[in-house]
This record gives sequence, structure tokens and C-alpha cells, in this order.
Amino acid sequence: MTPATTFAGRKVALFGLGGSGLATVRSLLAGGADVLAWDDNAGSRDRAREQGITVTDLNEADWSGFTALVLAPGVPLTHPEPHWTVGLAQAAGIPIIGDIEIFCRERAALAPDAPFVAITGTNGKSTTTALTAHLLRHAGRDVQMGGNIGTAILSLEPPAANRVHVVELSSFQIDLTPSLKPGVGILLNLTPDHLDRHGTMENYAAIKERLVMGADLAVIGVDDTYCAAIAGRRAGERIRLHVEGHGDAAGDYTCAAGTVRGPDGAVIAEVSGIPSLLGDHNLQNAAAAVAAAIRLGLSSEEIAAGLRSFPGLAHRMEPLRRIGKTLFVNDSKATNADSTEKALLAFRDIHWIVGGKAKEGGIEPLAPLFDRVAHAYLIGASSDAFAATLEGRVPFTRCGTLEAATEAAAQAAGAAGTESPVVLLSPACASYDQFPNFEVRGDRFRALVAALPGQAEA
Ligand code: ADP
Repeated sequence: MTPATTFAGRKVALFGLGGSGLATVRSLLAGGADVLAWDDNAGSRDRAREQGITVTDLNEADWSGFTALVLAPGVPLTHPEPHWTVGLAQAAGIPIIGDIEIFCRERAALAPDAPFVAITGTNGKSTTTALTAHLLRHAGRDVQMGGNIGTAILSLEPPAANRVHVVELSSFQIDLTPSLKPGVGILLNLTPDHLDRHGTMENYAAIKERLVMGADLAVIGVDDTYCAAIAGRRAGERIRLHVEGHGDAAGDYTCAAGTVRGPDGAVIAEVSGIPSLLGDHNLQNAAAAVAAAIRLGLSSEEIAAGLRSFPGLAHRMEPLRRIGKTLFVNDSKATNADSTEKALLAFRDIHWIVGGKAKEGGIEPLAPLFDRVAHAYLIGASSDAFAATLEGRVPFTRCGTLEAATEAAAQAAGAAGTESPVVLLSPACASYDQFPNFEVRGDRFRALVAALPGQAEA
């Protein structure tokens, strides 16, 4: 844990007692702060009490003595409307910050040169964060990974000169971190997302931009217009990443056909053939992680070995097993058409398990990729809508459940006699109609595939 020593002796208001909120209370208490913590949700308050944390109604508190309001990232700061604690903090004239800000202050006080890689973007954050951490760990570094992925940042070990923090940040977290100044700041891409919480795309992009503007080295994917403009505004050290065929801006690193090349055309990293990093989107993620690894002093041999041994993240184009010639891939994290597009682009001869609680637009945006699909197996609440989209374009079967779809797809792919069929769960939908979340959906698919009869091919 990282005790928040920079708040020693201070009185702090904290709102939001989820996982990161509880970790923040512990860190502040360990650092010697006086914390008044609250949550609107009675269940969250009870959970906090069970863990020995005193909860105090901030509605009744005297705000004049607080040094700061620490807000959980899930709590609205600006849109759709500021949470009531935000109004009280503003009236009291105190800063509104999050746990990442507490970490940044701690780093500034304890070890200002401690290596710190911060990663954001609309898509690819978790993959890039996990890969960066893996490259560094594989090379024997002391790595602490967390933030928006896995462990809350203040539950990690404190910053130190020989310890690298690799941290994934959401836009909400960046918005609560005024002194964010990472050693390496990575911004992968920007597409419309969370606009209910940020108001406009411009506001969302401006928040993300702060992560790279404060960084010593900025690594920016330049394949969308927002990021290309941000890279243009960035004055200090920067590396622009360009994936060929995606966007028109030129880059310092060019990614094409599974290879990352530097400004002089020399090969920086070879990603082709690494099963956990299939697809152009992963080439962008890999290029960003490699840029950070080089900055932190890894050799090309260390990087190559780390890339080859990256296990990948569960539920993101996760290769499960091969039965005969058929490869089974779990892409349950693909909860919208944008994400599923990446998976359809990575394979051909696809037996596609698709459906759930559909997003606006459904799977129509994927029509240009339908020729890669041998057969679709429909599951969940979207079945009628998706059947209408596929009618006359792709053969499909209404399977209803994931169980029926997995069985039907495995059988048809095995019987097809083609060279390399892929049974792909990439639902392009939220899971809530049939599963609590995408993880449970993906875990169920993994179990179903593991239970299928057949010898694994060597
Ligand atoms: P995040 O943490 O930002 O949600 P993940 O690494 O978990 O991102 O990847 C989630 C999904 O986003 C992947 O399954 C893939 O479909 C898509 N994706 C990943 N990386 C990229 C990228 N660099 N560009 C576009 N889409 C991506």
C-alpha cells in the first residue's frame, strides 16, 4: 500500500466507497489524515463499516476545515450534472481530486524521478498496460501495475527510484488528477465514448490530452483526427504511432504487416505471429508498449522475448484451444460493433457467435466484413434484429443460448473441411440480457470449449 503521507494531519472529505474509494481511505488513514468518508448507497456504507471504516454524512459536515474532496472516478464531476458533493466542495473553495492525484503528489514528494508510465485512450488501454508491465517484468524490473486495471493505485507499493508504476487511466481519473506528470504518457486513440459523462467529444478529448501534455515523453497514436491534432500541439518529446491503412497522418513509428518500424525504417519490433497480439489494433498497442520499454532502457532482445511470451488478456481475442483445424477464440469483451470489427478483421472463415443486448446501430456497421463470416450463430435478445441484418448476406442459425451456439458452431466448423476455421465469440453486444457481465459470458464460453470432445492439435 502507498500511505498518503502528503495529507498527514489534514482533514479530507471522501465520497464514493467502492473498491478504489476504500483503498483511498486506507491510504489516507495510513498517511495520518483525518478522513470523513461517505457514499449515497447504504450497501456501500455498510461494507465500509464492516471493514472498520467510520462513515460520516458529508451533508452534515463542516466543509470549511477540509483540505480537499477526494471523489471516486465513477461519480459525476460535470455531466450529466455535478454530484452534490462537488457543489459543496466548490462552495468551500477546495480542490476536487482522485486517488491518482494522491499518488502523483506522493511520487513528487518521495521519488520525483520514479519511473511512471500512464496509459489512456478510448480502446486498448488494458492490453497496452498489461503488455508494458509484462515487458518490464520479463526483463526483471520491479513493476507495479494498476489504476483502471486490476489493483487500485493506492493499494500498490509506493513509488521508488527503481520501481516502475504502469498505470491505466480512464478519462474520469485524468479529470481528477490536476498534477498528472508521468515519465511516459501514452494516448492510443480517441473515438466517441462516455459522452454522457463528458458532455461533448471536445471536452472528452481535452481531458485525455492532459495526460500526454504533462508527460516527459508523449506517445500518441495519430490514426484518428483528435489524436493527430493533439500530437500536433505537443511541443516536447513525442513519438507518433501510425498504423498503415488507418488515418492519414504520418508517424515516427510506422506499424504495418505485423512489424513496427522507426523513423529510419529500421525494425523496432516484430509482432506478427504472436497469438496474443493479433490484428492491427494490437500492433498499435504493441508499438506503444515498446516505445515505453525502450524509454525505460530495455534492449531489443528483452523486448522481443517479452513480446513473444505475452499471454494476452482474457476475453480480448483470447485463443482458447484448437480442435482439429478449428481455432476457438473468446472475444467476449467486444460489447459493441467497433470492438467486434477488430476481431472480424483478424480472421477469415469465421463461425461467429454474436448477440446479446444490442447497442445502437447493431451489427450493420460490420456489413463490409460479412464476407469473412462462414456462418453466424445468434444468441440473446438481439436475435430478431441481427437476423434481419444478416438475411440474404450471411447464413445464420438462431441458437438462443451460448451453449447451443457453441455446440452448433463447433460441429459446423469441424465438418466444413476448410483449412483454418475459427469459432469466434465476439458478441458486439452487452451481456446483461443473459449474463451478469462480459467476464462471466467469456468464462462460460471458455468452459464450454474446454468441455468439447476432441484432441488438441499439437
Ligand atoms: P480498454 O481497456 O481501453 O477497454 P482493451 O485493451 O481491454 O481496451 O481492449 C478492448 C477491446 O478494444 C478489444 O477487444 C478490441 O476490440 C478493442 N481494441 C483494443 N486495442 C485497440 C486499439 N488500439 N484500437 C482500437 N480498438 C482496440
